[in-house]
Amino acid sequence: MSGSRVLVLNSGSSSVKYQLLDMRDGGRLAVGLVERIGESGSRLKHSPADGESREWNGSVPDHDAALKAMAAELDRDGLGLGSPELAAIGHRVVHGGLRFTEPTVVDDAVLAEIERLIPVAPLHNPANLTGIRTAQALRPDLPQVAVFDTAFHTTMPESAARYAIDVETADAHRVRRYGFHGTSHAYVSRETARLLGRAPEDVNVIVLHLGNGASASAVRGGRCVDTSMGLTPLEGLVMGTRSGDTDPAVIFHLMRVGGMSADEIDTLLNKRSGLIGLCGDNDMREIRRRVDAGDERAGLAFDIYIHRLKKYIGAYYAVLGRVDAVAFTAGVGENSAPVREAAVAGLEGLGLVVDGGLNAVRGDGARLISPADARVAVAVVPTDEEMEIAAQTYALVNDSGNQNLT
Ligand code: AMP
Repeated sequence: MSGSRVLVLNSGSSSVKYQLLDMRDGGRLAVGLVERIGESGSRLKHSPADGESREWNGSVPDHDAALKAMAAELDRDGLGLGSPELAAIGHRVVHGGLRFTEPTVVDDAVLAEIERLIPVAPLHNPANLTGIRTAQALRPDLPQVAVFDTAFHTTMPESAARYAIDVETADAHRVRRYGFHGTSHAYVSRETARLLGRAPEDVNVIVLHLGNGASASAVRGGRCVDTSMGLTPLEGLVMGTRSGDTDPAVIFHLMRVGGMSADEIDTLLNKRSGLIGLCGDNDMREIRRRVDAGDERAGLAFDIYIHRLKKYIGAYYAVLGRVDAVAFTAGVGENSAPVREAAVAGLEGLGLVVDGGLNAVRGDGARLISPADARVAVAVVPTDEEMEIAAQTYALVNDSGNQNLT
């Protein structure tokens, strides 16, 4: 009989985040992070459920060293990768293109396809691949499962997924809207239905994932019908450092008139725009502190952020026709009462109202912040991408195990 533990790995270009979960009860056995891989001053932080957190500074030259350092820490807690309790390793993979609509057990063909998608996810897919290959080398006998950020959005109709540009050119270069944060949108839309005491199939939800990266999605009966990120995670909402929607002609203008290169504009729009570009801060706590102190630049940045958010709420209301709930999630969505209040202010005509008292209460779990008699529920629903990756991984491994038995 296979074990009940799943190790979830989120491998970035210079960091690896990991969680070891026990799927019998959803308990987190250990959580950790290796940062600054391949840079000076690498750092590991490891927190077992039954013990003190440990931190470690030293040299971690590559992902192989990072995963070995993680494995050594898990070993110290008696949770080593060699344990028969470990059922599978679940990997976050950012871009699955159109091919991967479901979590997928990794084999050579899957690796090759993730590699083929590197041109549309140059920052993420290479690091995700390295994480998978390194984990395979550590436990070649164990199923490695890829869970794709794009998968939840593959149900979008062509009318939402296609840009209105020449079809042949778009198809030749796989230019279309893929969407990201899908694991979070899937989890939060389902949890919102649970909060309402209804089946996901019966509920239409607008999910607002507002973290440092931010995206909105329109979910009809559990299936995504539109989302704000596109070919890359640059499109859509105003984010911590990304511009979100702009007129594409801004780019030509900056090239022709501003004399900037494509790479410079890429950096501008991804790293020096959004909240940080508008006011020099990307942390909503600091922005609110400045707004409350009367800082005009922070005030304008906040207003631009809210204006865009409100436009997407309105747009997705129209896309869905009937909305049962609006769910706020991720760092800003879960923690910033002023953002939630401002995003919904003035939308009473759409049935959207926030109760000031409920909105101000801080809490850990999913909760309603709209009045009991509201036409549309407004909710705060904490996201849990690791749990979703673990759950999808475990379900897939158990499924294939059962199929093998029959
Ligand atoms: P995430 O990407 O989901 O981890 O979200 C990170 C962002 O959440 C930070 O950049 C902050 O802007 C925001 N954030 C975190 N905690 C708070 C808080 N207590 N109040 C307002 N914003 C917060």
